[in-house]
Amino acid sequence: MIKGLNYKFLILLSTVLACTILAFFVGFIKNETIVYTHFFYVPILLAGVWYRKKAVFIALFLCFVYILVTLFSPHAELYVHIFERSAIFVAVAYVIGLVSEKRAKGEEKLKETKEYLDNIITSSADAIVVVDMDGIVRSWNRAAEDYMGYSAKEVIGTSNKNFFADPGEAEKIMRIVQREGELKNYRTTVLNKDKKPVHISMSAALLKDRNGVPVGTVRVSRDITKEVELEEKIKEERDNLNQILESMDDGVYIVSKDYKVEFMNKVLIDALGYHVGDICYKAFHNRDEPCPRCKNTEVMKGKTVRWEWYSRRNNKTYDLFETPMRNINGTISKLTIFRDISDRKRMEDDLKDAEERYRVIFEHALTALCVIEDGEVVSVANKEFETLSGYSREEIKGKKWIDFIADQDRDRVQNYCVERRKGEAPACCEFKFVSSNGEIKHVNAWIEPIPGADSCIASLLDVTELKRKEDELRETCEKLAELDKMKRDFLNVAYHEMRSPLAPIVGYASMLERCELPDKGKKYLYNIEHSARELEKLINRMLELARIDGKKIELSLEGVYIPEVVAEVVKDIEPEAREKKQVISMAVQEVEIQADRQKIVAIFSNLISNAIKYTPEGGKIDIVVEDRGEDIRAYVADTGIGITEEHLPKIFERFYMVDTSLTRKSGSLGLGLSIVKEYVKLHGGKVWATSEIGKGSKFFFIMPKRQ
Ligand code: ADP
Repeated sequence: MIKGLNYKFLILLSTVLACTILAFFVGFIKNETIVYTHFFYVPILLAGVWYRKKAVFIALFLCFVYILVTLFSPHAELYVHIFERSAIFVAVAYVIGLVSEKRAKGEEKLKETKEYLDNIITSSADAIVVVDMDGIVRSWNRAAEDYMGYSAKEVIGTSNKNFFADPGEAEKIMRIVQREGELKNYRTTVLNKDKKPVHISMSAALLKDRNGVPVGTVRVSRDITKEVELEEKIKEERDNLNQILESMDDGVYIVSKDYKVEFMNKVLIDALGYHVGDICYKAFHNRDEPCPRCKNTEVMKGKTVRWEWYSRRNNKTYDLFETPMRNINGTISKLTIFRDISDRKRMEDDLKDAEERYRVIFEHALTALCVIEDGEVVSVANKEFETLSGYSREEIKGKKWIDFIADQDRDRVQNYCVERRKGEAPACCEFKFVSSNGEIKHVNAWIEPIPGADSCIASLLDVTELKRKEDELRETCEKLAELDKMKRDFLNVAYHEMRSPLAPIVGYASMLERCELPDKGKKYLYNIEHSARELEKLINRMLELARIDGKKIELSLEGVYIPEVVAEVVKDIEPEAREKKQVISMAVQEVEIQADRQKIVAIFSNLISNAIKYTPEGGKIDIVVEDRGEDIRAYVADTGIGITEEHLPKIFERFYMVDTSLTRKSGSLGLGLSIVKEYVKLHGGKVWATSEIGKGSKFFFIMPKRQ
């Protein structure tokens, strides 16, 4: 700069000197002034260009020289031009100086701007690279040097293709910039000098010359490797989160600030359908604007909310947990967890219903109910308890349980309560209850511990009246038992007394049989004897039943060989069967049991004679006895009239008869089967019958072999 200045100054000085010398030389020696002042414009022009307005001084100096030459020149007629020309010199100097200054200022400004831009480019944190239309790098700033590792020298003049991880990118970028005129935040990967990938975000613009012809592209790129790594990490975390959300039992969705559904997990898709990408209020609620209860705005402000939502769409109640969630791009979305609490709700409602039901039952129960806390204090009581105790509910609450128990029963009931809570006492206990006016009432108390609590519920039934009636009944029963005993004793005596005259009647009748009697007499005698024997049988049965009732029967046990007993009974009764042309078949296993022989005879005798009695002529009777190891099973089957279902359960009752022509004819009394039942029972066995009307009956009994 200083060099330049000296050089210009010397040239200027030389031209000024040359002009001065020339003017003097021409003016004094040759006496011509007009032509040679034109040279003065040269230093004026130079000064104007180089020293701007200062050129006026040069012009003034030259004017001075000119005036001097003119004044001292012998040609006086030229004086008239002196001032005119001097003014022109100054004016020209001034104008040129002005124009130069303007231009210099412009240049300075341009320089400043250029420096400023250079500074920006150099100090920019972003790489600024200029690439011409052939893809050759023309400019490469420091930031580019920093993250690419190449110096500007190494790179300028080479193809930009070499720097991209994918060489096709260079052309692609150029194409886009040419087409669109610019490129914004384009992400790509370049390779640095160590061939390591560097992720960059590039913005580019088309450079054009004055005529609008594209000459290249300027590209501003930022190293976003860290951001990309972070994004990848966030994405990974987001993927993990999504995976977690997918595997959750609860429904999950993510909604953006502008209500767009960004994510739904499977549970929610199954429940509400797939709506990712839809606007939530439109998709889920068929609305044109956000729902009034929506918490999106609150959540977007950073709040976490929890609330309950009932879906009319699937009749379910959800517990919603909504919280803000930061996205990769820095925006906030709303994460909502839908927990289906319909079952819990239903259970709560059911519980409420159940509680209400139990409250009503508790309140309106016909027994007095109260809850005893820790075995001591009554906390709740029902209406009936108020009635029983005579206290109001307010008075009962907090009262000691023991105060309701009569002194003499207190220890016993307290012990009972303790044992009951341990599960070691029966459910019910009886004690004397003291009411508000001191009246003693007999109560039956059921005390039940409440599971999971230190309390129990007492249910008290006032049995005072019942007790009184029970006492009365007991007295009556005792009297009746006494009367019954008197009756049985009387009947016993009566039957014995009735039997005594029968023996001589039968005896004399048999004696008379041996006497000569007319046919009519013989017939009368037979009738007398038959009736007497029937009467004897009847009396014997009545006597037997009286004995059974009086519990006077004792089994005289012995080894009873069943085939023998059956054969004996059949032999006795067979004439009757023969008379009716009936066939008796026997399948009796050889078995001996320990029993009262007479009673076993009576059992078989009653069953077989009934079979004969209720089977018409030509029928069949089967007698079967099976040895089953521990017991015997026997049955007598006939092909008789049968018994209807209606009568079957009653035929073992005393004096029960099915009214048929056969019963009427036979003069039955309905005692045989009741005696059979009693005898079988006495031996620890069981008797029953099956029958089909018109086809026959089967009478079974089982009896243990050992008593
Ligand atoms: P009864 O001495 O009158 O026969 P039971 O007690 O032996 O009295 O029998 C009671 C009733 O059972 C009889 O009146 C009769 O109607 C019915 N019954 C008993 N055995 C038979 C049978 N084998 N077939 C049909 N009916 C029978």
